[in-house]
Amino acid sequence: MILVIGGAGYVGSHLVKELVETEEVVVLDNLSTGFKSLVDSKATFIQGDLGDKEVLNNIFTTYSIKAVMHFAANSLVGESVTNPYKYYENNVSATLTLLKAMVDHHVKNFIFSSTAATYGIPHINLIDENQPTNPINPYGKTKLMVEHILEDFSSAYGLNYIVLRYFNVAGAHESATIGERHDPETHLIPIILQHLLGKREKISVFGTDYDTPDGTCIRDYIHATDLANAHILALNALLQEQKQTETYNLGNGNGFSVKEVIKTCEEVTGRKANVQYADRRLGDPSKLVASSKKIQKELGWEPQFNLTNIIEDAWKWHKQSKL
Ligand code: UDP
Repeated sequence: MILVIGGAGYVGSHLVKELVETEEVVVLDNLSTGFKSLVDSKATFIQGDLGDKEVLNNIFTTYSIKAVMHFAANSLVGESVTNPYKYYENNVSATLTLLKAMVDHHVKNFIFSSTAATYGIPHINLIDENQPTNPINPYGKTKLMVEHILEDFSSAYGLNYIVLRYFNVAGAHESATIGERHDPETHLIPIILQHLLGKREKISVFGTDYDTPDGTCIRDYIHATDLANAHILALNALLQEQKQTETYNLGNGNGFSVKEVIKTCEEVTGRKANVQYADRRLGDPSKLVASSKKIQKELGWEPQFNLTNIIEDAWKWHKQSKL
């Protein structure tokens, strides 16, 4: 049995949909940002907090858990700057409670969702795992703190873990049964598509004076299904004792500016966007693009979807979404 914490969220639900094909899955989610309707019906669903010792003890004594996959975090850069307490409490303190419960119950394998935000402002074009970590916002700091906790838990208690540092996750499952759903929405691609569906008046581009060719921020977008598949490979590497402690970047290795993303959305949908140029958003680095060579080489991961595919699948999902 695999415990997926945050399995009702955007990324977690894509992982669960793949994982139920080969494993028994129990999902723990407090539904603070997730939606029960996104959880595959083959998984057992428990509503509760990852920082609740009693809930965790119950799960670890009821089920024979071979690994924990942890997706339940707050992940908005801007919000982390204005409300850091929320981020340190949920992303660090509650995760520490979870890790202690794992140690107490002799659960040895952990997959952790980390982020490109741990790198801060990179000084090279393609960020690999050897780049220094120097986060510039509380969100990135909380994720890096957990990475440090994992190193120490591994040395002291023999915890095996794989850290996956995500770049910008986007897209939706090809079936359009699950997809990106945040309330309120802050992410670029869903905002553009909601606008093109007539659900928002305009799109604001946050900052046009960055040190990039067109002045807008560059990000590396990765399809949620590609990301889910990387998690399955990582899980198997731990379960088969191929790996004990590793950190991998997950991105496509191609950067797109905010303006380029808007243009691709216009091409995919055949609709024209009303774009407004606005001030920079707090905490945004100008460019984040991954080298994912390490996971490709070591675990055989290959991303299948480019930006156009990502937007096509996201568009299918948003067109049928009732929100
Ligand atoms: N962005 C924007 N307008 C929006 C939402 C996002 O210009 O309405 C920009 C944002 O400043 C960043 C990029 O789009 O440079 C990606 O932002 P998103 O929130 O999707 O992901 P993040 O990079 O923060 O994880």
